[in-house]
Amino acid sequence: MTTSSEPTFRQSVDLMFNRAVALMDLPPGLEEKIRVCNATYTVRFGVRLRGEIRTFTGYRSVHSEHMEPVKGGIRYSPEVHQDEVEALAALMTYKCALVETPFGGSKGGLCIDPREYDEHELERITRRFAYELAKRDLIHPSQNVPAPDMGTGEREMAWIADQYARMNTTDINARACVTGKPINAGGIVGRVEATGRGVQYALREFFRHPEDVAMTGLSGRLEGKRVIVQGLGNVGYHAAKFLSEEDGVQITGIIERDGALFDPAGLDVEAVHRWIQAHGGVKGYADGAFSPDGAALLEAECDILIPAALEGVINLTNAARVKAPLIIEAANGPITAGGDEILRKRGCVIIPDMFANAGGVTVSYFEWVKNLSHIRFGRMQRRQEEARHQLLVDELERLSSDSGVGWTLSPNFKERYLRGADELELVRSGLDDTMRTAYQAMRAVWHGREDVHDLRVAAYLVSIGRVAESYRAKGL
Ligand code: NAD
Repeated sequence: MTTSSEPTFRQSVDLMFNRAVALMDLPPGLEEKIRVCNATYTVRFGVRLRGEIRTFTGYRSVHSEHMEPVKGGIRYSPEVHQDEVEALAALMTYKCALVETPFGGSKGGLCIDPREYDEHELERITRRFAYELAKRDLIHPSQNVPAPDMGTGEREMAWIADQYARMNTTDINARACVTGKPINAGGIVGRVEATGRGVQYALREFFRHPEDVAMTGLSGRLEGKRVIVQGLGNVGYHAAKFLSEEDGVQITGIIERDGALFDPAGLDVEAVHRWIQAHGGVKGYADGAFSPDGAALLEAECDILIPAALEGVINLTNAARVKAPLIIEAANGPITAGGDEILRKRGCVIIPDMFANAGGVTVSYFEWVKNLSHIRFGRMQRRQEEARHQLLVDELERLSSDSGVGWTLSPNFKERYLRGADELELVRSGLDDTMRTAYQAMRAVWHGREDVHDLRVAAYLVSIGRVAESYRAKGL
């Protein structure tokens, strides 16, 4: 994805880190301690498939253990390599600190194209990989808790959880060894949608601040904005779906592996998603104009660009032509350090990955807490809450009739007010609160310091400050 003059993904993350620490006054040596990746484990293991032994290479990188467990997804992709896993692990450290989830940063990857294997084969490969990691405590409820990432989802997480439980038969907290599991295997409602939902909440919060919107040259509300999304996978699909269905934005472009669709009147996200599920790409979809050169659509006119596929897609080669005034990094590292510099100079506002896609780890945190507490959120208080609300409504109705005023409650009020929150509402409320609070912490630095001109540096300053505090408290 990057040209040879462009730094690698990990170097790119380090360059961005360096830009921020140059503005900080950290004790000597602490900067280096925070920046470096603590350890990366490489494993090569064999699985007998289709009559032969196939060898797979996997990684689990631990960037920072200032808090434990460490947390970070497992990616399945043929492009996975050590540098990428380490970059992603570093981003996890900063992300967790920014959204105040009590984890260090980690990431894993398996060098595999999951589309080349059937479900049964993938299960055997995943279980073997999980075994290799679990026996070294690189999967462990209190040490290292993976989650889904590109190429993995609920299914793989369920296999990992089961594999860990088989190896640790008396561990009562075994289910907390991994997040992103299906509900029936100890998952939490709202985890699948969480990262995309977080992107939506991040944009809503951004548009609550007219001064911030003005920095992009845009005006008004989120409603009606033209959006191009790259990658209609877990993150991109949910973000595009919620933004179009609930916030009135128009998804004018969708970029996938095999090309892009463009329709200035707005694409039907659900229909395109169904088409991709059935045909493996966007080519052949009935509405909108198809172009086989998907990446070119990153440069098209729009209000908001959402790269939600992979890293390095906006770089030295194309950044100067990207016209979107606002980019929200739903993927990890979609803009290289060089691309970032070009865009910043042109006044483009970038909502950085470590904040924008933190919805996943936030809800993973809720799932982990649920697993450790062994009870679903809302189970104890929901009906009690409803009973108290009923008391108030009864009293209002009695007062109204006794006083002869004859007030009537607005339509649907009773129905909406009486209902106690279920797990999904609590998860969304916790996620919304997290995204708003983290954005406000970033913008306080963005607007509060004269030497900070962009949200990415602001995000790094907040998170590195917190990691440094953690180390200080440990006496390092
Ligand atoms: P996914 O595998 O579900 O989806 C990725 C999508 O991108 C797929 O639809 C794929 O076809 C498409 N894609 C791949 N290469 C492409 C290309 N060259 N051009 C256009 N589209 C391409 O993965 P995901 O879980 O949605 O992750 C996407 C990004 O979000 C990654 O950077 C990941 O690290 C990040 N992320 C994911 C989560 C999560 O909870 N899943 C959380 C935080 C960050």
